[in-house]
Amino acid sequence: MSLLRFRVVKEGFGKKAVAVDEPQGRPPRYFGQQVFNREKMFAYLPKKAYDAVISAIDNKRPLSRETADAVAKGMKHWAMDMGATHYTHWLHPLTDGTAEKHDSFIEPDGKGGVVEEFSGKLLIQQEVDASSFPNGGIRNTFEARGYSAWDISSPAFIIGKTLCIPTIFISYTGESLDYKTPLLRALNTMDEAATQVCRLFDETVGRVYSYLGWEQEYFLVDESLVVARPDIVMTGRTLMGHESAKNQQLEDHYFGSIPSRVEAFMRDLEIECHKLGIPAKTRHNEVAPNQFEMAPIYEETNIANDHNLLLMSIMKEVAKRHNFRVLLHEKPFAGVNGSGKHCNWSLGTDTGVPLFTPGKTPEQNLQFLVFMVNVLSAVWKHNGLLKASISSASNAYRLGANEAPPAIISIFMGKQMSGVIDKLLSSTTDAFLNIDGKSQVTLDLPQTTELMIDNTDRNRTSPFAFTGNRFEFRAVGSSANCASAMIALNAAVANELMEFKSAVDARMAGGDGKMQAIVTVLRQMLAECKDIVFDGNGYSDEWKAEAARRGLDCETSIPLIFDRYLSKESVEMFKNTGVFNELELKARNEVKWEIYTKKIQIEARVLGDLALNHIVPVATRYQSVLLDNALKMKQLFTPDKAEALASQDIEEIEKIAGHITAIRSQVGEMVEARKVANRITSERDKAIAYHDTVAPLLDTIRRHIDKLELMVDNQMWPLPKYRELLFIK
Ligand code: ADP
Ligand code: MG
Repeated sequence: MSLLRFRVVKEGFGKKAVAVDEPQGRPPRYFGQQVFNREKMFAYLPKKAYDAVISAIDNKRPLSRETADAVAKGMKHWAMDMGATHYTHWLHPLTDGTAEKHDSFIEPDGKGGVVEEFSGKLLIQQEVDASSFPNGGIRNTFEARGYSAWDISSPAFIIGKTLCIPTIFISYTGESLDYKTPLLRALNTMDEAATQVCRLFDETVGRVYSYLGWEQEYFLVDESLVVARPDIVMTGRTLMGHESAKNQQLEDHYFGSIPSRVEAFMRDLEIECHKLGIPAKTRHNEVAPNQFEMAPIYEETNIANDHNLLLMSIMKEVAKRHNFRVLLHEKPFAGVNGSGKHCNWSLGTDTGVPLFTPGKTPEQNLQFLVFMVNVLSAVWKHNGLLKASISSASNAYRLGANEAPPAIISIFMGKQMSGVIDKLLSSTTDAFLNIDGKSQVTLDLPQTTELMIDNTDRNRTSPFAFTGNRFEFRAVGSSANCASAMIALNAAVANELMEFKSAVDARMAGGDGKMQAIVTVLRQMLAECKDIVFDGNGYSDEWKAEAARRGLDCETSIPLIFDRYLSKESVEMFKNTGVFNELELKARNEVKWEIYTKKIQIEARVLGDLALNHIVPVATRYQSVLLDNALKMKQLFTPDKAEALASQDIEEIEKIAGHITAIRSQVGEMVEARKVANRITSERDKAIAYHDTVAPLLDTIRRHIDKLELMVDNQMWPLPKYRELLFIK
């Protein structure tokens, strides 16, 4: 997606690019200026249409055709006032990014000219003739039709000269082909399930929202160096490169002062974000050299996810203006930290009550505990699935690497919360509840002041941490669509809340009072799921052994982790919550395996080519320099002296020869392994073969190349090195 135009202006002795329409004034003046939000709708729609569309959004009802026509008309006027010429349905297919097909507004006027039109029909639904989107076999080629439909809860926006309409994407037979459809389904189910549970405490609750605040980590590298690294260009990461002598060992980059070129990029990016209504708030240096982070203020999950996808797309464009390339890959450089996208997640009611924040009264605290325990229980039951939801070929290079969470999902609660949980579990019913009068309760629970959670109590080794008023799902990868994790998490917790509510209802029907029923059910759940809590060091070997003993999912092979989507419990849970049917799950897994295979396949090809075309010839050339030197020594000096003088050259020649031979034979082996794997027809088995037989060779070949990098004459080395790639001046 291309952003706005920019011009080059002189600055001092140099030049810099400035956006032509760099906004004037401070953020409140231009925030959301490119978004068809409620304010624009109010200005551009007739009152009746405005009321109808707002009511449809707020009450999650479809738009009538009449309203859609009125909205389309207003939207077109606004877009044209903004200079837009085209519109697109903005899809979130099962690829790494978003998709768009631009159509201009023009229609023939019947007199040889054109008019600019945009009907309600085009706004709310389109047929997408795009059989080449990943679909896992749901659409075979003779039934290639798919449909996109406007997600009215997400406002349209303008990028460059194109009006973008956020849409869901489904097949002719109604199965989802994207991330947005199941995300909306999961959020709806969460809303319904959580609202029912909240009504046990407060009848007036009408809706529960799921919130997401992502933190996007990324690397910046000079564009001119990236173009000289075919591995970065084609795979998003370095497939070779010896660690530089200095990297992150001095811990001087994290929160360090931001280099001025980078700050200019960040400022530009934030302006673009604000114009698009993305509430970008925080920016800082991350741990690794050239690694940075940006985080917005959290928003409703569907909107937050749209905004993250939008950000990932625009940051690439903004980076170009500053002669940077942005790398969203989870592990672009070996030996320094990789990038994640922590997903801060919480729930809150339309009455303004945050559900993961302790309350002021015992009853509010009990509601807080209900939601906490339901999360613990859902994550306990579906820990393998949650891991699958954040797994990908690229995130595999980061997870479990002692800088990111381990490939085992557990929950960090912190000392204080763990204490609360223990108390809930161990106190007896009588001591716990003292029902007095109507529903006045006194609980043997710490009161508000005691329940204040100590935010400094952090654990960087946990994949899923409670951080005072929210959970931070830290295992999500930087390049991921957060929807994947948010679908699994919201669906699993919603399912748990439904089961919880039924269990409480059953106890009440059996004569229990409400509070007693709730506490009894909570205790039963906790007794079963408490092993999901782990506050210790997630990197330690003892934890791996302990996690296995607790029955947590310890699988590390990505293709096998994907199986978790098809386990009996997952299929049942997704069916119950209406998020996926079994056909969708199967189809999506086909896509996951296929993408996994292709990613490793591309890496293997790129590495093979680079090894044979770039590295081996250069190493051979340097080897002959040494050979030449040794030979000349022999001609000039006596045999004894020549041998003494040339001995180190000869040793080096032998080492180089050893590495060259190993590279050649291992590249050959890798090609063979690919051939064998490519003949496998099952996508799952093929992905497993790529994981087991191709991927390991990427590492061993690299090791030989990295050794050569240290030996071969620096002037000859054909690729920019880590020390050049990693330190922006
Ligand atoms: P950290 O200290 O974890 O790096 P950041 O400030 O970088 O924190 O990011 C924290 C993210 O969590 C922000 O996006 C913030 O808006 C979000 N957040 C804060 N409170 C909540 C909440 N209740 N629910 C969801 N997200 C939240
Ligand atoms: Mg942060």
